[in-house]
Amino acid sequence: RRAAASVQRLTRSVADFPQPGVQFADLTPVFADATGLREVIDALAAAAHGRADLVAGIDARGFLLGSGVALAAGTGVLAVRKQGKLPPPVLSQTYQLEYGKAGLEVPADAIALEGRRVLVVDDVLATGGTVCATVDLLTRAGAEVIGVAVVMELEGLGGRDRLTVPLTSLVAV
Ligand code: IMP
Repeated sequence: RRAAASVQRLTRSVADFPQPGVQFADLTPVFADATGLREVIDALAAAAHGRADLVAGIDARGFLLGSGVALAAGTGVLAVRKQGKLPPPVLSQTYQLEYGKAGLEVPADAIALEGRRVLVVDDVLATGGTVCATVDLLTRAGAEVIGVAVVMELEGLGGRDRLTVPLTSLVAV
C-alpha cells in the first residue's frame, strides 16, 4: 500500500548508530514529508478498527504519531513518558535494556484508564522491550490494550513474538 511505499522510499538507513554494528532506521524524512506523514497516520489509525477510545504514543517519536493517529481515529491521546517527566502520582514500569534499565510512566490518577480500549503507537519495533513494557503498564492501570501499531518492524529481533496483543506494522525489514 501507499504508506509502506513512502516509508521504504523515505527512510534513511544509518550504519553503526547508536552503536557499532547496529543499522539504524531513521524515519525523520518520512515524518517531514507531508504525504508520508498523512499516509502513515491514516494507516496506523486503521489498526484501531474503530474500536479504540484512546491512543497511547511512546516517548518520544511515538508522540509525533500519537496525536495525529488519535485525531484520525477519533480518540484522545496519552503520552507514555520516560521516567521522571510526569508529576506524581505515576504508575511506573521498568524494563531491561541491552545495557542497564529504563522506565516508562503514565499518570496514576490524572485520567481514568480503567476499562479504556487503547491503541499503542510507536515508530519502530525492535526487540519489543519498549512496547511490552508499555502494554504491561497500561494493563496494570486497568486498560485493555487492543493492539500495537508501529511504522517499522525490525524482523529477527523477536519483538513480534514477545507481544501478547495484535501487532500492525506498515513495513517489516
Ligand atoms: P525495542 O524496545 O528494542 O523494541 O526498541 C524500540 C525502541 O527503540 C523504540 O522506541 C524505537 O524508537 C527505538 N528504536 C530501536 N531501533 C530503532 C531504529 O532502528 N530506528 C529508530 N528507532 C529505533
